[in-house]
Amino acid sequence: MVDADQTFVIVGGGLAGAKAAETLRAEGFNGRVILIGDERDHPYERPPLSKGYLTGKEERDTVFVHEPAWYARNDIELHLGQPVTAVDREARTVRLGDGTTIRYDRLLLATGSEPRRLDIPGTDLAGVHHLRRLAHADRLRHVLASLGRDNGHLVIAGGGWIGLEVAAAARGYGAEVTVVESEPTPLHHVLGPELGQLFADLHAEHGVRFHFGARLTEIIGQDGMVLAVRTDDGEEHPAHAVLAAVGAAPRTALAEAAGLNLVDRAHGGGVAVDESLRTSDPEIFAAGDIAAAHHPLLHTRLRVEHWANALNGGPAAARAMLGRSVSYDRVPYFFSDQYDLGMEYSGWAPPGSYDQVVARGDVGKRAFIAFWLKDRRILAGMNVNVWDVTEPIQRLIRSGAQVDPEALADPSVPLENLI
Ligand SMILES: Cc1cc2nc3c(=O)[nH]c(=O)nc-3n(C[C@H](O)[C@H](O)[C@H](O)COP(=O)(O)OP(=O)(O)OC[C@H]3O[C@@H](n4cnc5c(N)ncnc54)[C@H](O)[C@@H]3O)c2cc1C
Repeated sequence: MVDADQTFVIVGGGLAGAKAAETLRAEGFNGRVILIGDERDHPYERPPLSKGYLTGKEERDTVFVHEPAWYARNDIELHLGQPVTAVDREARTVRLGDGTTIRYDRLLLATGSEPRRLDIPGTDLAGVHHLRRLAHADRLRHVLASLGRDNGHLVIAGGGWIGLEVAAAARGYGAEVTVVESEPTPLHHVLGPELGQLFADLHAEHGVRFHFGARLTEIIGQDGMVLAVRTDDGEEHPAHAVLAAVGAAPRTALAEAAGLNLVDRAHGGGVAVDESLRTSDPEIFAAGDIAAAHHPLLHTRLRVEHWANALNGGPAAARAMLGRSVSYDRVPYFFSDQYDLGMEYSGWAPPGSYDQVVARGDVGKRAFIAFWLKDRRILAGMNVNVWDVTEPIQRLIRSGAQVDPEALADPSVPLENLI
Protein backbone atom coordinates (compact mmCIF):
# COMPACT_ATOMS: atom_id res chain seq x y z
CA MET A 1 0.00 0.00 0.00
CA VAL A 2 1.17 3.49 -0.79
CA ASP A 3 0.27 6.37 1.56
CA ALA A 4 -0.60 9.89 0.50
CA ASP A 5 2.20 11.24 2.71
CA GLN A 6 4.87 9.38 0.76
CA THR A 7 7.42 11.08 -1.47
CA PHE A 8 8.49 9.58 -4.78
CA VAL A 9 11.58 11.12 -6.32
CA ILE A 10 12.53 10.76 -9.97
CA VAL A 11 16.08 11.58 -11.03
CA GLY A 12 16.33 12.45 -14.72
CA GLY A 13 14.04 14.84 -16.55
CA GLY A 14 13.91 12.97 -19.86
CA LEU A 15 11.13 10.95 -21.45
CA ALA A 16 11.26 8.03 -19.01
CA GLY A 17 11.23 10.37 -15.99
CA ALA A 18 8.39 12.57 -17.29
CA LYS A 19 6.27 9.57 -18.29
CA ALA A 20 6.83 7.98 -14.88
CA ALA A 21 5.63 11.17 -13.16
CA GLU A 22 2.59 11.27 -15.43
CA THR A 23 1.77 7.64 -14.65
CA LEU A 24 2.07 8.09 -10.88
CA ARG A 25 -0.65 10.74 -11.06
CA ALA A 26 -2.74 8.84 -13.61
CA GLU A 27 -2.69 5.81 -11.28
CA GLY A 28 -4.00 7.95 -8.43
CA PHE A 29 -0.86 8.49 -6.36
CA ASN A 30 -1.58 11.43 -4.02
CA GLY A 31 1.82 11.81 -2.40
CA ARG A 32 4.63 14.14 -3.45
CA VAL A 33 6.18 13.58 -6.88
CA ILE A 34 9.51 15.31 -7.32
CA LEU A 35 11.20 15.28 -10.73
CA ILE A 36 14.82 16.43 -10.83
CA GLY A 37 16.72 17.07 -14.06
CA ASP A 38 20.12 18.59 -14.71
CA GLU A 39 19.02 20.21 -17.98
CA ARG A 40 17.29 23.60 -17.87
CA ASP A 41 14.69 22.62 -20.45
CA HIS A 42 11.48 20.88 -19.49
CA PRO A 43 11.51 17.16 -20.36
CA TYR A 44 11.64 16.65 -24.13
CA GLU A 45 11.85 13.90 -26.70
CA ARG A 46 15.17 13.43 -28.47
CA PRO A 47 14.26 11.76 -31.81
CA PRO A 48 13.41 15.12 -33.50
CA LEU A 49 16.88 16.44 -32.60
CA SER A 50 18.41 14.44 -35.45
CA LYS A 51 15.35 14.71 -37.73
CA GLY A 52 12.62 17.37 -38.02
CA TYR A 53 14.02 19.76 -35.41
CA LEU A 54 17.50 19.57 -36.93
CA THR A 55 16.22 20.18 -40.45
CA GLY A 56 14.10 23.09 -39.22
CA LYS A 57 10.80 21.45 -40.19
CA GLU A 58 9.66 21.00 -36.58
CA GLU A 59 9.26 23.87 -34.12
CA ARG A 60 10.84 23.84 -30.69
CA ASP A 61 7.44 23.59 -28.91
CA THR A 62 6.73 20.23 -30.54
CA VAL A 63 9.56 18.35 -28.81
CA PHE A 64 8.39 18.74 -25.21
CA VAL A 65 6.72 15.84 -23.42
CA HIS A 66 4.27 18.24 -21.72
CA GLU A 67 3.77 21.98 -21.83
CA PRO A 68 5.45 23.65 -18.81
CA ALA A 69 2.13 24.41 -17.03
CA TRP A 70 1.23 20.70 -17.02
CA TYR A 71 3.69 19.98 -14.19
CA ALA A 72 2.18 22.49 -11.76
CA ARG A 73 -1.32 21.44 -12.77
CA ASN A 74 -0.48 17.86 -11.86
CA ASP A 75 1.36 18.81 -8.72
CA ILE A 76 4.69 17.55 -9.99
CA GLU A 77 7.52 19.41 -8.22
CA LEU A 78 10.12 20.16 -10.85
CA HIS A 79 13.76 20.92 -10.13
CA LEU A 80 15.39 21.82 -13.43
CA GLY A 81 19.05 22.64 -13.99
CA GLN A 82 19.84 20.65 -10.85
CA PRO A 83 22.09 17.59 -10.96
CA VAL A 84 21.58 14.97 -8.31
CA THR A 85 25.07 14.39 -7.00
CA ALA A 86 24.51 11.54 -4.55
CA VAL A 87 22.00 9.01 -3.28
CA ASP A 88 22.17 8.05 0.40
CA ARG A 89 20.36 4.73 0.57
CA GLU A 90 20.55 4.49 4.39
CA ALA A 91 19.00 7.90 4.95
CA ARG A 92 16.87 7.57 1.79
CA THR A 93 17.87 10.97 0.50
CA VAL A 94 19.21 12.45 -2.69
CA ARG A 95 21.60 15.38 -2.66
CA LEU A 96 21.27 18.14 -5.25
CA GLY A 97 24.05 20.19 -6.81
CA ASP A 98 23.16 23.14 -4.59
CA GLY A 99 23.72 21.00 -1.49
CA THR A 100 20.07 20.53 -0.48
CA THR A 101 18.83 17.06 0.30
CA ILE A 102 15.44 15.56 -0.45
CA ARG A 103 14.03 12.52 1.32
CA TYR A 104 12.37 9.78 -0.70
CA ASP A 105 10.26 6.78 0.07
CA ARG A 106 10.80 5.40 -3.41
CA LEU A 107 13.28 6.53 -6.00
CA LEU A 108 13.38 6.17 -9.76
CA LEU A 109 16.66 6.61 -11.63
CA ALA A 110 16.10 7.65 -15.25
CA THR A 111 19.39 9.36 -16.01
CA GLY A 112 19.63 8.29 -19.67
CA SER A 113 22.83 8.20 -21.70
CA GLU A 114 25.58 10.51 -22.79
CA PRO A 115 27.46 10.51 -26.10
CA ARG A 116 30.72 8.61 -26.16
CA ARG A 117 33.67 10.87 -26.95
CA LEU A 118 36.41 10.34 -29.47
CA ASP A 119 39.58 9.83 -27.52
CA ILE A 120 41.90 11.31 -30.18
CA PRO A 121 43.92 14.50 -30.65
CA GLY A 122 41.79 17.45 -31.74
CA THR A 123 38.57 16.30 -30.11
CA ASP A 124 38.35 19.50 -28.06
CA LEU A 125 38.32 21.81 -31.09
CA ALA A 126 35.26 24.07 -31.29
CA GLY A 127 34.18 22.48 -34.57
CA VAL A 128 33.72 19.02 -33.01
CA HIS A 129 30.10 18.29 -32.08
CA HIS A 130 27.98 15.73 -30.23
CA LEU A 131 24.23 15.34 -30.37
CA ARG A 132 22.21 14.52 -27.29
CA ARG A 133 20.63 17.72 -26.00
CA LEU A 134 18.44 20.46 -27.42
CA ALA A 135 21.34 22.88 -27.07
CA HIS A 136 23.51 20.52 -29.16
CA ALA A 137 20.81 20.41 -31.86
CA ASP A 138 20.50 24.21 -31.85
CA ARG A 139 24.23 24.54 -32.37
CA LEU A 140 24.42 21.81 -35.00
CA ARG A 141 21.49 23.30 -36.93
CA HIS A 142 23.42 26.51 -37.17
CA VAL A 143 26.59 24.71 -38.26
CA LEU A 144 24.80 22.67 -40.95
CA ALA A 145 23.13 25.77 -42.35
CA SER A 146 26.44 27.59 -42.63
CA LEU A 147 28.23 24.53 -44.11
CA GLY A 148 25.44 24.37 -46.69
CA ARG A 149 25.84 28.05 -47.56
CA ASP A 150 29.64 27.86 -47.84
CA ASN A 151 30.00 24.45 -49.52
CA GLY A 152 31.52 23.28 -46.25
CA HIS A 153 32.38 19.72 -45.31
CA LEU A 154 31.04 17.70 -42.38
CA VAL A 155 32.80 14.51 -41.34
CA ILE A 156 30.68 12.17 -39.25
CA ALA A 157 32.49 9.60 -37.15
CA GLY A 158 30.10 6.64 -36.89
CA GLY A 159 27.52 5.23 -39.29
CA GLY A 160 24.88 4.40 -36.69
CA TRP A 161 21.35 5.80 -36.52
CA ILE A 162 22.31 9.26 -35.31
CA GLY A 163 25.25 9.55 -37.72
CA LEU A 164 23.04 8.61 -40.68
CA GLU A 165 20.13 10.84 -39.68
CA VAL A 166 22.47 13.80 -39.32
CA ALA A 167 24.05 12.91 -42.69
CA ALA A 168 20.57 13.12 -44.27
CA ALA A 169 19.84 16.44 -42.54
CA ALA A 170 23.23 17.85 -43.55
CA ARG A 171 22.67 16.91 -47.20
CA GLY A 172 19.32 18.68 -46.96
CA TYR A 173 21.21 21.85 -46.03
CA GLY A 174 23.59 21.26 -48.96
CA ALA A 175 26.68 20.41 -46.87
CA GLU A 176 29.29 17.97 -48.17
CA VAL A 177 29.25 14.86 -45.97
CA THR A 178 31.71 12.04 -45.35
CA VAL A 179 30.85 9.25 -42.93
CA VAL A 180 33.79 7.34 -41.45
CA GLU A 181 32.73 3.93 -40.17
CA SER A 182 34.93 1.12 -38.89
CA GLU A 183 32.60 -1.64 -40.12
CA PRO A 184 32.04 -2.57 -43.79
CA THR A 185 28.52 -1.07 -43.85
CA PRO A 186 26.59 1.41 -41.74
CA LEU A 187 24.39 -0.09 -38.99
CA HIS A 188 26.38 -3.30 -39.32
CA HIS A 189 25.83 -4.46 -35.74
CA VAL A 190 22.10 -3.75 -35.78
CA LEU A 191 21.03 -4.86 -39.25
CA GLY A 192 23.83 -7.06 -40.51
CA PRO A 193 25.59 -6.61 -43.88
CA GLU A 194 22.59 -7.07 -46.24
CA LEU A 195 20.39 -4.38 -44.78
CA GLY A 196 23.34 -2.20 -43.84
CA GLN A 197 24.22 -2.01 -47.54
CA LEU A 198 20.73 -0.73 -48.31
CA PHE A 199 21.39 2.29 -46.08
CA ALA A 200 24.84 2.77 -47.65
CA ASP A 201 23.21 2.86 -51.11
CA LEU A 202 20.48 5.23 -49.97
CA HIS A 203 22.98 7.73 -48.63
CA ALA A 204 25.37 7.35 -51.56
CA GLU A 205 22.48 8.22 -53.89
CA HIS A 206 22.04 11.42 -51.92
CA GLY A 207 25.70 12.31 -52.27
CA VAL A 208 27.11 11.08 -48.95
CA ARG A 209 30.65 9.68 -49.16
CA PHE A 210 31.57 6.72 -47.00
CA HIS A 211 34.93 5.66 -45.73
CA PHE A 212 34.41 2.14 -44.38
CA GLY A 213 36.80 0.00 -42.37
CA ALA A 214 38.54 3.02 -40.86
CA ARG A 215 38.58 5.01 -37.64
CA LEU A 216 39.48 8.62 -37.00
CA THR A 217 42.88 8.99 -35.40
CA GLU A 218 43.19 12.77 -35.40
CA ILE A 219 41.21 15.91 -36.00
CA ILE A 220 43.52 18.50 -37.47
CA GLY A 221 42.79 22.12 -36.64
CA GLN A 222 44.17 25.59 -36.47
CA ASP A 223 43.17 28.41 -34.11
CA GLY A 224 40.35 26.25 -32.76
CA MET A 225 38.93 25.55 -36.24
CA VAL A 226 38.69 22.09 -37.79
CA LEU A 227 40.60 21.72 -41.06
CA ALA A 228 40.69 17.97 -41.75
CA VAL A 229 40.53 14.54 -40.19
CA ARG A 230 43.01 11.69 -40.42
CA THR A 231 42.06 7.99 -40.35
CA ASP A 232 44.02 4.94 -39.22
CA ASP A 233 44.69 3.88 -42.82
CA GLY A 234 46.62 7.11 -43.36
CA GLU A 235 43.95 8.96 -45.35
CA GLU A 236 43.07 12.59 -44.79
CA HIS A 237 39.63 14.09 -45.44
CA PRO A 238 38.86 17.80 -45.57
CA ALA A 239 36.49 18.88 -42.79
CA HIS A 240 35.07 22.14 -41.47
CA ALA A 241 33.12 20.40 -38.73
CA VAL A 242 33.06 16.93 -37.18
CA LEU A 243 30.18 15.09 -35.54
CA ALA A 244 31.22 12.36 -33.12
CA ALA A 245 28.37 9.84 -33.39
CA VAL A 246 30.12 6.81 -31.93
CA GLY A 247 27.42 5.65 -29.56
CA ALA A 248 26.22 6.51 -26.11
CA ALA A 249 27.08 5.34 -22.61
CA PRO A 250 24.47 4.88 -19.86
CA ARG A 251 24.79 7.45 -17.06
CA THR A 252 25.27 5.04 -14.20
CA ALA A 253 27.69 7.02 -12.01
CA LEU A 254 25.04 7.87 -9.44
CA ALA A 255 23.80 4.28 -9.20
CA GLU A 256 27.35 3.00 -9.00
CA ALA A 257 28.32 5.40 -6.21
CA ALA A 258 25.17 4.33 -4.35
CA GLY A 259 26.34 0.71 -4.53
CA LEU A 260 23.54 -0.59 -6.76
CA ASN A 261 24.25 -3.64 -8.90
CA LEU A 262 25.44 -2.76 -12.39
CA VAL A 263 25.95 -4.80 -15.54
CA ASP A 264 29.48 -4.72 -16.95
CA ARG A 265 30.07 -2.96 -20.26
CA ALA A 266 30.89 -6.20 -22.11
CA HIS A 267 27.33 -7.30 -21.36
CA GLY A 268 25.69 -4.03 -22.37
CA GLY A 269 26.26 -1.99 -19.19
CA GLY A 270 23.52 -0.21 -17.24
CA VAL A 271 21.83 -0.61 -13.88
CA ALA A 272 20.70 -4.17 -13.26
CA VAL A 273 16.94 -4.40 -12.71
CA ASP A 274 14.49 -7.27 -12.53
CA GLU A 275 11.46 -7.60 -14.79
CA SER A 276 9.56 -5.08 -12.63
CA LEU A 277 12.44 -2.59 -13.16
CA ARG A 278 13.48 -2.78 -9.49
CA THR A 279 17.19 -2.43 -8.76
CA SER A 280 19.17 -4.38 -6.16
CA ASP A 281 17.70 -1.92 -3.60
CA PRO A 282 13.98 -2.69 -3.24
CA GLU A 283 13.07 1.01 -2.87
CA ILE A 284 14.95 2.10 -6.01
CA PHE A 285 13.87 1.53 -9.60
CA ALA A 286 15.46 2.34 -12.96
CA ALA A 287 13.95 2.96 -16.40
CA GLY A 288 14.84 4.12 -19.89
CA ASP A 289 18.33 3.99 -21.37
CA ILE A 290 20.08 3.08 -18.11
CA ALA A 291 17.95 0.07 -17.18
CA ALA A 292 19.35 -3.35 -18.01
CA ALA A 293 16.24 -5.38 -17.38
CA HIS A 294 15.65 -9.08 -17.34
CA HIS A 295 13.31 -9.56 -20.33
CA PRO A 296 10.66 -12.19 -19.59
CA LEU A 297 9.94 -12.91 -23.26
CA LEU A 298 13.49 -12.92 -24.62
CA HIS A 299 14.94 -14.65 -21.53
CA THR A 300 17.94 -12.41 -21.39
CA ARG A 301 19.06 -9.19 -19.77
CA LEU A 302 18.58 -6.31 -22.17
CA ARG A 303 19.37 -2.60 -22.17
CA VAL A 304 17.48 -0.72 -24.86
CA GLU A 305 18.54 2.79 -25.87
CA HIS A 306 15.37 3.72 -27.71
CA TRP A 307 12.45 6.10 -27.45
CA ALA A 308 9.73 3.45 -27.01
CA ASN A 309 11.60 1.91 -24.10
CA ALA A 310 11.61 5.25 -22.27
CA LEU A 311 7.98 5.87 -23.23
CA ASN A 312 6.81 2.52 -21.83
CA GLY A 313 9.51 1.73 -19.29
CA GLY A 314 8.95 4.94 -17.30
CA PRO A 315 5.25 4.11 -16.76
CA ALA A 316 6.06 0.46 -15.99
CA ALA A 317 8.54 1.53 -13.30
CA ALA A 318 5.98 3.97 -11.88
CA ARG A 319 3.43 1.18 -11.52
CA ALA A 320 6.02 -1.03 -9.85
CA MET A 321 6.83 1.83 -7.43
CA LEU A 322 3.14 1.85 -6.51
CA GLY A 323 3.36 -1.81 -5.60
CA ARG A 324 1.56 -3.11 -8.70
CA SER A 325 2.65 -6.37 -10.19
CA VAL A 326 4.76 -5.51 -13.25
CA SER A 327 6.44 -7.71 -15.80
CA TYR A 328 7.96 -5.39 -18.38
CA ASP A 329 7.91 -7.50 -21.51
CA ARG A 330 7.51 -5.02 -24.40
CA VAL A 331 9.04 -6.18 -27.66
CA PRO A 332 11.94 -3.75 -28.26
CA TYR A 333 10.98 -1.20 -30.91
CA PHE A 334 12.58 1.76 -32.63
CA PHE A 335 12.17 3.88 -35.72
CA SER A 336 14.20 6.11 -38.01
CA ASP A 337 13.57 8.55 -40.85
CA GLN A 338 16.20 9.35 -43.47
CA TYR A 339 15.33 11.26 -46.69
CA ASP A 340 12.14 9.59 -47.97
CA LEU A 341 12.84 6.33 -46.12
CA GLY A 342 10.94 5.64 -42.92
CA MET A 343 11.42 2.43 -40.99
CA GLU A 344 10.38 0.68 -37.81
CA TYR A 345 12.20 -2.24 -36.21
CA SER A 346 10.68 -4.63 -33.71
CA GLY A 347 12.46 -7.40 -31.88
CA TRP A 348 16.00 -8.29 -31.04
CA ALA A 349 18.38 -10.06 -33.43
CA PRO A 350 21.99 -9.27 -32.54
CA PRO A 351 24.77 -10.55 -34.85
CA GLY A 352 25.13 -14.31 -34.64
CA SER A 353 21.61 -14.85 -33.25
CA TYR A 354 19.87 -15.49 -36.60
CA ASP A 355 20.40 -17.94 -39.43
CA GLN A 356 18.21 -16.44 -42.15
CA VAL A 357 17.01 -13.04 -43.37
CA VAL A 358 13.76 -13.06 -45.36
CA ALA A 359 12.47 -10.07 -47.34
CA ARG A 360 8.82 -9.52 -48.16
CA GLY A 361 8.07 -6.86 -50.76
CA ASP A 362 10.24 -4.82 -53.07
CA VAL A 363 13.70 -4.29 -51.59
CA GLY A 364 14.87 -2.43 -54.72
CA LYS A 365 12.06 0.11 -54.34
CA ARG A 366 12.71 0.27 -50.60
CA ALA A 367 9.18 -0.83 -49.68
CA PHE A 368 9.45 -4.12 -47.86
CA ILE A 369 9.60 -5.94 -44.54
CA ALA A 370 12.78 -7.79 -43.55
CA PHE A 371 12.61 -10.60 -41.02
CA TRP A 372 15.47 -12.12 -39.06
CA LEU A 373 14.84 -15.79 -38.25
CA LYS A 374 16.43 -18.55 -36.21
CA ASP A 375 15.19 -22.08 -36.80
CA ARG A 376 12.27 -20.51 -38.73
CA ARG A 377 11.22 -18.50 -35.68
CA ILE A 378 11.04 -14.72 -36.13
CA LEU A 379 13.41 -12.79 -33.88
CA ALA A 380 12.93 -9.36 -35.44
CA GLY A 381 11.18 -7.55 -38.26
CA MET A 382 11.89 -4.22 -39.93
CA ASN A 383 9.28 -2.51 -42.07
CA VAL A 384 10.68 -0.02 -44.55
CA ASN A 385 8.18 2.39 -46.11
CA VAL A 386 5.43 -0.12 -45.28
CA TRP A 387 3.10 0.98 -42.51
CA ASP A 388 0.65 -0.33 -39.90
CA VAL A 389 2.38 -3.71 -39.60
CA THR A 390 4.07 -3.32 -36.21
CA GLU A 391 1.33 -5.17 -34.38
CA PRO A 392 1.32 -8.32 -36.54
CA ILE A 393 5.13 -8.33 -36.63
CA GLN A 394 5.31 -8.14 -32.84
CA ARG A 395 2.64 -10.83 -32.55
CA LEU A 396 4.73 -13.13 -34.74
CA ILE A 397 7.80 -12.47 -32.59
CA ARG A 398 5.87 -13.03 -29.36
CA SER A 399 4.32 -16.27 -30.59
CA GLY A 400 7.73 -17.92 -31.05
CA ALA A 401 5.97 -20.03 -33.70
CA GLN A 402 7.86 -21.58 -36.60
CA VAL A 403 6.81 -20.04 -39.91
CA ASP A 404 7.19 -21.07 -43.51
CA PRO A 405 9.85 -18.71 -44.97
CA GLU A 406 8.23 -18.88 -48.42
CA ALA A 407 4.86 -17.76 -47.10
CA LEU A 408 6.62 -15.11 -45.01
CA ALA A 409 8.25 -13.73 -48.17
CA ASP A 410 4.95 -13.65 -50.06
CA PRO A 411 3.10 -10.33 -49.61
CA SER A 412 -0.17 -11.95 -50.73
CA VAL A 413 -0.19 -14.08 -47.55
CA PRO A 414 -1.47 -11.90 -44.67
CA LEU A 415 1.00 -11.78 -41.77
CA GLU A 416 -1.90 -12.70 -39.50
CA ASN A 417 -2.23 -16.06 -41.30
CA LEU A 418 1.33 -17.14 -40.64
CA ILE A 419 0.83 -18.39 -37.11
C1 LIG B 1 19.62 12.78 -31.34
C2 LIG B 1 18.87 11.55 -30.91
C3 LIG B 1 17.95 10.95 -31.77
C4 LIG B 1 17.27 9.82 -31.38
N1 LIG B 1 16.38 9.26 -32.25
C5 LIG B 1 15.72 8.15 -31.90
C6 LIG B 1 14.80 7.53 -32.80
O1 LIG B 1 14.61 7.99 -33.92
N2 LIG B 1 14.14 6.42 -32.42
C7 LIG B 1 14.34 5.88 -31.19
O2 LIG B 1 13.71 4.86 -30.88
N3 LIG B 1 15.20 6.42 -30.29
C8 LIG B 1 15.90 7.55 -30.61
N4 LIG B 1 16.78 8.12 -29.74
C9 LIG B 1 16.98 7.51 -28.40
C10 LIG B 1 15.99 8.04 -27.38
O3 LIG B 1 15.87 9.43 -27.48
C11 LIG B 1 16.45 7.64 -25.98
O4 LIG B 1 16.39 6.25 -25.90
C12 LIG B 1 15.60 8.29 -24.90
O5 LIG B 1 15.82 9.67 -24.88
C13 LIG B 1 15.92 7.72 -23.53
O6 LIG B 1 15.15 8.38 -22.57
P1 LIG B 1 15.61 8.46 -21.05
O7 LIG B 1 14.52 9.21 -20.36
O8 LIG B 1 16.02 7.14 -20.58
O9 LIG B 1 16.96 9.31 -21.07
P2 LIG B 1 17.24 10.79 -21.54
O10 LIG B 1 16.32 11.20 -22.62
O11 LIG B 1 18.71 10.85 -21.81
O12 LIG B 1 16.93 11.66 -20.24
C14 LIG B 1 17.71 11.56 -19.08
C15 LIG B 1 17.78 12.90 -18.42
O13 LIG B 1 18.38 12.76 -17.13
C16 LIG B 1 19.32 13.81 -16.94
N5 LIG B 1 20.28 13.41 -15.91
C17 LIG B 1 21.29 12.52 -16.04
N6 LIG B 1 21.96 12.40 -14.86
C18 LIG B 1 21.36 13.24 -13.99
C19 LIG B 1 21.59 13.57 -12.63
N7 LIG B 1 22.57 13.01 -11.92
N8 LIG B 1 20.78 14.49 -12.05
C20 LIG B 1 19.77 15.06 -12.74
N9 LIG B 1 19.50 14.79 -14.03
C21 LIG B 1 20.28 13.88 -14.65
C22 LIG B 1 19.91 13.97 -18.33
O14 LIG B 1 20.58 15.19 -18.50
C23 LIG B 1 18.65 13.89 -19.19
O15 LIG B 1 18.01 15.13 -19.25
C24 LIG B 1 17.50 9.27 -30.10
C25 LIG B 1 18.44 9.86 -29.22
C26 LIG B 1 19.12 10.98 -29.63
C27 LIG B 1 20.13 11.61 -28.72
